[in-house]
Amino acid sequence: MRGLEERLEEVRHRVGRAAERAGRSPSEVRIVAVSKTVPPEVVAEAYRLGQRDFGENRVQELREKRPAVELLGATEGIRWHLIGHLQTNKAKLAVRLSDIIHSVDSVRLARELDAHAGALGRRLPILLEVDFTGLPQRGGFAPVELEACVPELLSLPNLEVRGLMTVAPLGLDRDGLRSVFRQLRGLRDRLADRHREADWRELSMGMSDDYEVAIEEGSTIVRIGRAIFGERPQA
Ligand SMILES: *Cc1c(COP(=O)(O)O)cnc(C)c1O
Repeated sequence: MRGLEERLEEVRHRVGRAAERAGRSPSEVRIVAVSKTVPPEVVAEAYRLGQRDFGENRVQELREKRPAVELLGATEGIRWHLIGHLQTNKAKLAVRLSDIIHSVDSVRLARELDAHAGALGRRLPILLEVDFTGLPQRGGFAPVELEACVPELLSLPNLEVRGLMTVAPLGLDRDGLRSVFRQLRGLRDRLADRHREADWRELSMGMSDDYEVAIEEGSTIVRIGRAIFGERPQA
């Protein structure tokens, strides 16, 4: 089996090549290593290899992992991204533990995060999650719904909208994936044009199986788990 160092190297290399194919600089793409189910020792090892951004999809797991990883010496410059669906009753904990939340998928959740960020005296960077499938199980604003909600979202004083995030539906071929990523970028461009008071630079899109296409389509943040840490144990 290949080691963490080789896998991380390969991902960095491929990210760089995909960026160059799109005429972009590799430094425009941030790699978030998705460490869900990965033990703290392995996260700390990735940190020693220069990785600084980590993503978790559950607040509970982040609550245990962040201090455990810190005890192993991985603190300076580390950034924790919350990328999974968040229930409003966990909003307070999420604000305390995250450096940025990618998965803001309702106005109600945003209001809750805003209140807790205010109480902690901080301004929380967020991304707005978009769902293009319309399937009931999936988190995210429908595109039309989001356009209607943006004025209120931008008015929340303790949140800082930085852009959009999406999870591509399962089972799409390359062209299908490309079309989803292109739609997210198009939506972002429209919003940025209409709401110039906010900073819309980030597009969080692309995972282990599709990050290269996402980068070709403008991704600025790729969320990569298996390609860095290996297959996860089956839940
Ligand atoms: C697990 C997860 C990822 C990473 O998935 P891989 O296929 O392991 O790269 C990215 N984004 C979200 C929201 C996730 O839950």
